[in-house]
Amino acid sequence: MKVFHAKEALQNHLQPLKQSGKTIGFVPTMGALHDGHLALVKNALKDNDVTVVSIFVNPTQFDNPDDLNKYPRTLETDLAMLDKLSPEILVFTPDAINFYDGQIKSQPFNFDGLEYEMEGKHRPGHFDGVGTVVKKLFEIVQPHTAYFGEKDFQQLKIIEKLVEKFNFSILIKPIPIYREADGLAMSSRNKRLSFIHRKAAPFIYQVLKQAQLLSQTNTFKEVKTFVNDVIQAHPLLKLEYFEIAEANTLRPADKKKVGNKYRGFIVVYAGEVRLIDNIEL
Ligand code: AMP
Repeated sequence: MKVFHAKEALQNHLQPLKQSGKTIGFVPTMGALHDGHLALVKNALKDNDVTVVSIFVNPTQFDNPDDLNKYPRTLETDLAMLDKLSPEILVFTPDAINFYDGQIKSQPFNFDGLEYEMEGKHRPGHFDGVGTVVKKLFEIVQPHTAYFGEKDFQQLKIIEKLVEKFNFSILIKPIPIYREADGLAMSSRNKRLSFIHRKAAPFIYQVLKQAQLLSQTNTFKEVKTFVNDVIQAHPLLKLEYFEIAEANTLRPADKKKVGNKYRGFIVVYAGEVRLIDNIEL
């Protein structure tokens, strides 16, 4: 397996591959890999001649320094997991100074309002950080196809908008949410859950599934009240938000309109760990 720390070295390696007509698949990650990440990588391996996986805990997308400091970093294990999938994978794990040319900061983006909903309200600057890092990664790797998980559904929509706004000729492939056997959405942050919070966390998906069922017969307002009430009654979980939004604009929705698609979006603290999930309604 080849591991690149400097963007110039990766670009030099990719250039002749592109010139000879090879297709490049790209999976951006922040590492601490799990089976959800590996599902994205498997799709990239299947669709492309060359697969690039980036592992970079991007400082500019964290609004909370404590979250950044405590974010799990398991590079050796990550590399072993990728090597086991395929020794052909190219890994890009840049040094932040090299990546940002010495200036570790984000640029402002206009994502046509997608950036003001949900995560945008609760994590100020987060999507400017995501836009900055992904735009730079796209410019460096210049993939044909890039893979993003529906677990971060708002991020997926933001990336689709980024591609549209900056005219990248990159196909974005969404990958469904991978879950543990008990329903908890796989996340690098799950590694930080205490024993009791890990046991409590699958309740989030149980509630989402109940919300999905309820939305077939009840109003969105009633579904929201239900989710708020049951999570608030849980002794170990703290609700940050539950929102129902139209799946393309991410605008909050009070009523169903025929022909539109909707999703329920939730963020819950289990102890000090922030967990995110969503479900189609
Ligand atoms: P992260 O390392 O958390 O930034 O995630 C890297 C990519 O993996 C993003 O596109 C995520 O949406 C995706 N991802 C993370 N967890 C999951 C999961 N449980 N199922 C599917 N995709 C995921």
